[in-house]
Amino acid sequence: MSNYKTETKCIQSGYEPGNGEARVLPIYQSTTFRYTSSEQMGRLFDLEESGYFYTRLQNPTNDAVAAKICDLEGGVAAMLTSSGQAANFYAIMNIVEAGDHIVCASALYGGTYNLYAHTIKKMGVEATFVDPECTQEELDAAFQENTKAVFGETIANPALVVLDLEKFANAAHAHGVPFIVDNTFATPINCRPFEWGADIVTHSTTKYMDGHAACVGGAIVDSGNFDWEAHKEKFPGLTTPDETYHGIVYTEKFGKGAYITKATAQLMRDLGSIQSPQNAFLLNIGLETLHLRVPRHCENAVKVAEYLKNHEKVAWVRCPSLPGDKYYDLAQKYMPNGTCGVITFGLKGGRDAAVEMMDRLKMVAIVTHVADARSCVLHPASHTHRQMNDKELVEAGVQPDLIRFSVGIENIEDIIADVEQALR
Ligand SMILES: *Cc1c(COP(=O)(O)O)cnc(C)c1O
Repeated sequence: MSNYKTETKCIQSGYEPGNGEARVLPIYQSTTFRYTSSEQMGRLFDLEESGYFYTRLQNPTNDAVAAKICDLEGGVAAMLTSSGQAANFYAIMNIVEAGDHIVCASALYGGTYNLYAHTIKKMGVEATFVDPECTQEELDAAFQENTKAVFGETIANPALVVLDLEKFANAAHAHGVPFIVDNTFATPINCRPFEWGADIVTHSTTKYMDGHAACVGGAIVDSGNFDWEAHKEKFPGLTTPDETYHGIVYTEKFGKGAYITKATAQLMRDLGSIQSPQNAFLLNIGLETLHLRVPRHCENAVKVAEYLKNHEKVAWVRCPSLPGDKYYDLAQKYMPNGTCGVITFGLKGGRDAAVEMMDRLKMVAIVTHVADARSCVLHPASHTHRQMNDKELVEAGVQPDLIRFSVGIENIEDIIADVEQALR
């Protein structure tokens, strides 16, 4: 980890050119890498030596961008994935096997809910979803003998529940398992979950990190803090020999790098969800302005939320940075400088009024995406979460009339004027 401040890390971390080399991180648009000795290539395949040999496992462009994200989060090792979905899939699959179990905060991104509630279940891994507001006792009761991880989102998309990171971290550690946090909405500009006890952080880099809606991507960062060896029997994949690499033991050979090395060497090798170096290059350009964009997103979001709160046609508004919000106190504790640019609201006219208002917006577009420079809206009950029944929607913190508004970084007067004419 470098000693630079966050703003400097956004620009400088991850890539340091040598004399006469490209100042800007180059795109290594190459599937493969050349070696002069076949013996050396063999050592690379045995993980006896580190180096690049095939882009499905590692690529220098991707590694530089992963190193920047790692530095921003304050971790020890990181990797890029093809999407946020792949990041959350790998983060769990790296430490579970069929027959295992995970505990999740129930307020989750719809895609992550599907992944953990349905898809990994077919692979023999069960998830228990707990109310993020639960007491310590209720949280403890969700653990089983075979529980291997706890998962939650810093700020849930789209419920905007701010997770009590310390409560979840303490419960995970009391049961000898790591706490994995999806930090997509907060970004390391507003929150660094490792400082609150998280062990692994994931990202959909598709959102604020890229920031321009140009490329889908994900990242996994390891704090290096979880002691896998201390809970050896729970994590045999990390603490017993991997026969596919001549019996190496990840924790013995790679120490604090064990988790990311295993995810790269096994999961990327076998499942192949790599980010293209071209996308990693674009992501890196996005990261260079993350520290400028995120505060403006947050500032604009609070202004829109204040405007909506005072509008006669608006029934309710959710913005964790707005005094009076249910999660204001938790937001002040974990994200005093701002939460995210996404807010939610409902109209007095309910579901039908929501759909009509959205159709009348002119500049603010209806898109599936969130968290890029352009303001946009979405109605989760009819779009991202449409596979859920009403009970599941409520458990995920999504009311049927909820409009998700991703406030962009256009001029605030233009954003509010568009909302105003649509409400009128
Ligand atoms: C979008 C999102 C994901 C999924 O990421 P993709 O890059 O779309 O695969 C995961 N978690 C959160 C919080 C998200 O907002």
